[in-house]
Amino acid sequence: MLVVNAGTTNTGAVDPIPQAATVAREQGLWLHADAAYGGFFRLLEEGKSLIPGLELCDSVTLDPHKGLFLPYGTGCLLVRDGAALYRTYRSSADYLQDVSADAADPANPVDFADLSPELSREFRGLRLWLPLQLHGLAAFRTQLREKLELTRAAWQELAADPNLEMVTRPQLTVFTFRLRRSDGGGEALNREFLQRVNASGRVFLSSTLLGGRFAIRMCILSFRTHGPRVQEAVNIIRRAAAAGWVKS
Ligand SMILES: *Cc1c(COP(=O)(O)O)cnc(C)c1O
Repeated sequence: MLVVNAGTTNTGAVDPIPQAATVAREQGLWLHADAAYGGFFRLLEEGKSLIPGLELCDSVTLDPHKGLFLPYGTGCLLVRDGAALYRTYRSSADYLQDVSADAADPANPVDFADLSPELSREFRGLRLWLPLQLHGLAAFRTQLREKLELTRAAWQELAADPNLEMVTRPQLTVFTFRLRRSDGGGEALNREFLQRVNASGRVFLSSTLLGGRFAIRMCILSFRTHGPRVQEAVNIIRRAAAAGWVKS
């Protein structure tokens, strides 16, 4: 099995999937993509260039509770060869003899108990189907496009600030940065900086380690986040970076 990332949590980075697909084909490997965060950007016209080759994978993890803004617990897996899932998860028991349908009969509906570890399972698909029916795909595309644009705009403004050092460029809707300081802006200073930003109560940024170094992570992926809030975030960050609270 070969697993590729289609949008990492840390930085939004996307693996070179077409090249991975070539290796997988040559070596006879199952190619899986973790597109939990990034996958739904493929709904956009520019999606193919953002995540090229996703269509070459044998299976893809997608989180509608991220890229489609739906309630937590709405994760999904797309598998090209459904028979492989059936072979893996299908089980029988004497007490199931009344509900077991012949899967080869097209008249029988898919029984997801045969395709996943759960037997008694809730109807999660409804949580995805209904919003798509009510709002249509265009509404989701509009949201995703807006988040990409907001991310790029926020990056540009922060990158122009002499008090900040951008660590990674926008990849999907994530970028990272830290304080730019003549003394290197140690981890403790950056932690304090992040706390100041989040103490505003208006925005919440997280942090991570990149190459072992502390970095602040901005990820824009809520359907409630629009231009004014992102501008407010930029202002709060720039003010905190410029403020005299930074100990020398
Ligand atoms: C969020 C995320 C996961 C984990 O998914 P959960 O739905 O939170 O369990 C896995 N991979 C990536 C890239 C993610 O962003």
